[in-house]
Amino acid sequence: MLIVKKFGGTSVGTPERIMNVARRCVEDYNKGNDIVVVLSAMGKTTDDLIKLAHEVNPKPPKRELDMLMTTGEQVSVAMMGMAMDALGVRAVSLNAYQIAMHTTSTYGNARLKRIDRERILHELEDRKIVIVTGFQGINKYDDYTTLGRGGSDTTAVALAAALHADACEIYTDVDGVYTADPRIVPTARKLKEITYDEMLDLATLGAGVLHNRSVEMAKKYGVKLVVRSSLNYSEGTMVKEEVTVERMLISGVAIDKNADRVSVMGLKDRPGVAFRLFDVLAKAKINVDVILQSIGREGTKDISFTCEDEYVDEAVAVIEANKARLNYESLSCDKNVAKVSIVGAGMMSNPGVAAKMFEALYNEDININMISTSEIRVTVLINEDDCERAANAIHEAFDLGRTHAM
Ligand code: ASP
Ligand code: MG
Repeated sequence: MLIVKKFGGTSVGTPERIMNVARRCVEDYNKGNDIVVVLSAMGKTTDDLIKLAHEVNPKPPKRELDMLMTTGEQVSVAMMGMAMDALGVRAVSLNAYQIAMHTTSTYGNARLKRIDRERILHELEDRKIVIVTGFQGINKYDDYTTLGRGGSDTTAVALAAALHADACEIYTDVDGVYTADPRIVPTARKLKEITYDEMLDLATLGAGVLHNRSVEMAKKYGVKLVVRSSLNYSEGTMVKEEVTVERMLISGVAIDKNADRVSVMGLKDRPGVAFRLFDVLAKAKINVDVILQSIGREGTKDISFTCEDEYVDEAVAVIEANKARLNYESLSCDKNVAKVSIVGAGMMSNPGVAAKMFEALYNEDININMISTSEIRVTVLINEDDCERAANAIHEAFDLGRTHAM
């Protein structure tokens, strides 16, 4: 079997942990498998490098920032190569340039386009464990790029797809995907399986276990993922097209405290107003999420939207800068909000799921600011202070703490 194994920053955070990961990979290697290991930078290295950059330049050029950040993963793969050598196993560390992992040219947020397989296949044929830097690529200028924070997951899935791997295992510091964040909802339970679509919603909604682009890619190429812990041998969670073991109405509750709300009040109630507002935001490359427009009254209307914390100040600034053109009365911004969502493929065929969620919130006397839904998701925007209570109440209402087979 060809197995791609990805280990996150915590899993390789110290020399001891690196040795531990090395041993674990060697175990599978000794069973006769071909092993490709993808690593993140050790511990908080990437954060530290970003801080370091800001000490010489508050707005570091993106190319140079990528050049700097890619060193983090290079440290871990070299360390892993040495650890495996210490265990008497042949291994080789490779970076994105040596392999040729081609990406688009956008620094800081590049997308993988093509991976050259020759070098890796050649090393595997030679019975070496291949250790690959996650998170990085090269663009058409032969410059280093990075795939966005958390991007090593995507490297692993892309490699698994390119190499037609038999398994792709994502090792992290949690046991798998849970029905909610166990730090917030103590009764949260580990899922045996989850579909790509559900995982995609959970990943995007801030469940934080997997990089969302890695899930998109896994779905596209049909790569089955296993999310499991590097610290124990418990089974983990399978991410795949269809689930067979547990068919539940709802798979999980996700909390995202990173969301902020911006409201633009007193816009003219006429065609083109929403277009102009969101066009201004799109041009500033600000991703908006939940959108709510009030019914027009006396010729004016209000539009609210949410966006991620890191973009909100910029969102407010561009709207203000375009005040004359957008023609609104006032603008407000609330950072003390959070998104709570339920996700589940089962809701497609079962009415009343949203009502049940709203009832749970009502019972807790929690007010809903905004609502948005998709086929398999219901999201509400509430006060950040209420979100722990909300998540627990919803989790309880859907009975997620217990296993029920259907
Ligand atoms: N080291 C990178 C980061 O912290 C990539 C990763 O860990 O997946 O974002
Ligand atoms: Mg991660």
